[in-house]
Amino acid sequence: MRTPYVCGNWKLNLDRAGARALATAIAQHRVSGVDVGLFPPAVYLDEVARAVAGSAVLVGGQNCCDEASGAFTGEVSAAMLKDVGATVVLLGHSERRHVYGETDELIQRKVHRALADGLQVMLCVGETLEERDSDQTESVVVRQMTAGLAGVGRDLLHAVSIAYEPVWAIGTGRTATPAQAGAVHRFARGVFAGLYDDAAAAAVRILYGGSVKADNAAELLADAHIDGALVGGASLRADSFLPIIDAALRVSAS
Ligand code: PEP
Repeated sequence: MRTPYVCGNWKLNLDRAGARALATAIAQHRVSGVDVGLFPPAVYLDEVARAVAGSAVLVGGQNCCDEASGAFTGEVSAAMLKDVGATVVLLGHSERRHVYGETDELIQRKVHRALADGLQVMLCVGETLEERDSDQTESVVVRQMTAGLAGVGRDLLHAVSIAYEPVWAIGTGRTATPAQAGAVHRFARGVFAGLYDDAAAAAVRILYGGSVKADNAAELLADAHIDGALVGGASLRADSFLPIIDAALRVSAS
């Protein structure tokens, strides 16, 4: 049984006071049976980690450097994220891949660095609209998963989750249908089984991301292979994020 996992990716939004207030509201909404993670801008990680202290809410970085330290102006290391309270990091988010040109090879190095430095990793994968329209969804997902996880041993899989985020659905208001998302999640779990084994594939959590909202969360999360949601826009307010957590709870209880 995989515990549902609902995460908010705040991207480049909020200020210190807004981050603290939102984190506090989410931490006060005590739920058991759903893991909740918040990914604030790196400079507010410390603030958010303090705001959720004592609750079960996890705090994570949106990205990290592939290097441990040194002359890498503007970068933040995995160890630094951990030092200010992060336990997990998003890697390979589509905005990192497509806006900042991160390659599969770079993401692979980041995955290794983050795991070596004691962070959990949420590896994001997903196809562009052009790739979907030319029937490349599966080849993109298999390539991104295979590259991102290359060299990651079974002993570290407990610290790995996957987020399937079709690029065409992120921030566009255009959500994948439950059937579209479910089909790719089933495929991704099969990829995981091929890379590792059936037991590992049965254990790994695969979240869906792409315009998840309170009104579509339940139908997406009802798919047996969709283990949670990575939420962007709707995670920026408690009144749009908390209902998604509640939907995950209801679906898992039913
Ligand atoms: C995301 O940033 O990972 C995301 C899914 O954003 P949105 O929910 O706004 O589409």
